[in-house]
Amino acid sequence: MQAATAQVKFEHRPNANPMPQAEREKAFENLGFGTLFSDHMAVVRWSADKGWHSAEITARAPFPVDPASAVLHYAQEIFEGMKAYRTADDKVVLFRPEQNARRFGASAERMAMPVLPEDIFMQAVEELVRIDSAWIPKGEGSLYLRPFMFAAETFLGVRPAREYVFCVIASPVGPYFKGGAKAVTLWVTETYTRAAQGGTGAAKCGGNYAASLIAQAEAVGHGCDQVVFLDAAEHRWVEELGGMNVFFVMNDGSLVTPPLTGTILPGITRDSLITLARDNGITVNERPYSFDEWKADAASGKLREAFACGTAAVVAGIGTVRHAGGEFKIGNGETGFLTEKLRNDLVGIQRGKASDKHAWVHPL
Ligand code: PMP
Repeated sequence: MQAATAQVKFEHRPNANPMPQAEREKAFENLGFGTLFSDHMAVVRWSADKGWHSAEITARAPFPVDPASAVLHYAQEIFEGMKAYRTADDKVVLFRPEQNARRFGASAERMAMPVLPEDIFMQAVEELVRIDSAWIPKGEGSLYLRPFMFAAETFLGVRPAREYVFCVIASPVGPYFKGGAKAVTLWVTETYTRAAQGGTGAAKCGGNYAASLIAQAEAVGHGCDQVVFLDAAEHRWVEELGGMNVFFVMNDGSLVTPPLTGTILPGITRDSLITLARDNGITVNERPYSFDEWKADAASGKLREAFACGTAAVVAGIGTVRHAGGEFKIGNGETGFLTEKLRNDLVGIQRGKASDKHAWVHPL
């Protein structure tokens, strides 16, 4: 569709009324997720006749949206989730941002949207983080970045839109687990599925999340933190959580994680942990793992630990699993030893405390 490399010039229109430092620092004392936003946003527009144009860094503000805007009707929308960190020695870094740029392009292709050149994605993210660097909390917090793109053409015909808006916004977030990383309780839904072969499971499109909300609500209704989806064809194979990938630690020390066959999101945390585990001499098997196997292995002790992973929570131990037929614990129901180690190794690299031999850290 579009060339993979290109540069645009971002016009800078700084916010005339940025939040005063004292107010921002007060807000930092009680950070949740996705409620507080930085002063600016990056915007690039695309139209079929002009291509990528009108790149700007501007004050964060609402978009005027026509009631006939295509995204409101046919949900042509994709997004990414990534973080800027402040390291122990006060440097600002991103973690594998080029992987988010690449996945954003893959999502765009699947949704019949124009592929944003990776250079422009990187430029938008970098320029926003630079101008809003005061918004990166010190210590354990980070600045969550949300690049997204939506169909902005005013047209009700069902076909790929001819106008899009790409935007990046930023939201300071605290540590995901306040007061330590408690193991999570999962709900395995046997009612709903997330993605079928040939569907959009591997794309990060808003529609996938809309479809998962009822299952997540089912999980919360059963007192669980997150939902686990099984495959759509047989309702047999473990796929992923609503917003995280999943790993199993077997008692021979090996790891098992579901393979990327097009129905799950190819997580960047997942990929990083596979690499770190292999660096440590750990065997990682990307293979289908069934819900029946999971129950049996937890009961026999063949399964020692399990964890979920993603940008927001990094790594979360799985303690208890509930389902329509009952519930079971994994190990002693606490976060396991290898889970803790992999988490510390990854966070160490992200925070500039451990050697970055794969050059994952992207300084600004
Ligand atoms: N699966 C789903 C459905 C997700 O939304 C996410 C979060 N992006 C992940 C997995 C984990 O991906 P990543 O490690 O790239 O954050």
